[in-house]
Amino acid sequence: MNAMSENRTGRTGRTGRTVRAAALGAALALAAGACGGVGDAARPEGESGTVGISMPTKSWERWVQDGENMVASLEEAGYGTDLQYAEDVVEDQVAQIENMITKDVDVLVVAPVDGEALTEVVGSAEDAGIPVLSYDRLIMESEGVDAYATFDNFGVGVLQGEYIAQELGLDEAEGPLAIELFGGSPDDNNAYYFYDGAMSVLQPYIDDGVLEVPSGQTEMNQIATMRWDGAVAQDRMDNLLGAHYSDRELDAVLSPFDGISTGVISSLKGAGYGTDDKPLPVVTGQDAETASVKSIIAGEQTQTVFKDTRALADSAAEMADALARGEEPEVDDTETYDNGAKVVPARLLEPVSVDASNYEEVLIDSGYYEESDLK
Ligand code: BGC
Repeated sequence: MNAMSENRTGRTGRTGRTVRAAALGAALALAAGACGGVGDAARPEGESGTVGISMPTKSWERWVQDGENMVASLEEAGYGTDLQYAEDVVEDQVAQIENMITKDVDVLVVAPVDGEALTEVVGSAEDAGIPVLSYDRLIMESEGVDAYATFDNFGVGVLQGEYIAQELGLDEAEGPLAIELFGGSPDDNNAYYFYDGAMSVLQPYIDDGVLEVPSGQTEMNQIATMRWDGAVAQDRMDNLLGAHYSDRELDAVLSPFDGISTGVISSLKGAGYGTDDKPLPVVTGQDAETASVKSIIAGEQTQTVFKDTRALADSAAEMADALARGEEPEVDDTETYDNGAKVVPARLLEPVSVDASNYEEVLIDSGYYEESDLK
């Protein structure tokens, strides 16, 4: 069931600038009054002001690329930047944002570690008159979130679900074919959109008996993976294989994120999958992390969803610029993203499904990766 897709060509997304920010390092200077903190990099105030950028973690390439691309896009627009990573520690992220408020940045751009944990600090930003742009992940329960730059998150899940349906030939199959479901972090609003999108495709096949979930674990509270941790997913997959697969094989795994896919595949290989007799199941993913693209090329992971961080950075920089000028950023969705305190106006970009058949076109031809990055 590890067949390479022959007929699926992902829609090519909007490509951004090829310019990537130079490595953060020597040229960095702390902005006046900065006390550094757990942070990363502050660049001097630009002619248009300074944007504080708070990112969740450097452990995954996508967030590193997001940070670099944001700095590059904002510098092009004349802004200085203060880029901080919280290494998935909520308290550190709060402290970093407080520090940016103290420095009186002109706009805050925040991808939360825990979407529920920033209500108070965003309230402080609001009191200080600093606009807040939610970046990729939605900040929940906060009136002070002005806008949201992200991708079509439901669409990400749809791409994963459709990929499984197509690879397993579910429209023709009699079944039952076996699938296990993995969800993202329960404190990340995106995780529910990915799940809902995927289940909008998969649930009808489950209802018809073409697909079966032998563990019976189908609800987000049963399948979520705290902090998107691959090791947690690997343990869960070990348990599922031990408990439900002694006399049958697994045909597909819905994974919402490449780090989870990596953990799942390690577990599967440990249980003897990945041979001619016992091929790996279809395994989806998200983010086009280089390790996962290499795994796709090697025929292990089957698919990932690419979200062009250059395009997101361009979009977010434009929105941040509008907010800094006291203008309304351009948005295309004013209904979907209710954070519990308000519906946050959003601008959504299109995700792209990537597998062995189109990674060159989508990832290399667009200049996102060099061929050598994937060797
Ligand atoms: C992002 C995904 C990412 C995940 C784990 C989500 O909020 O939208 O792109 O895979 O977090 O970092």
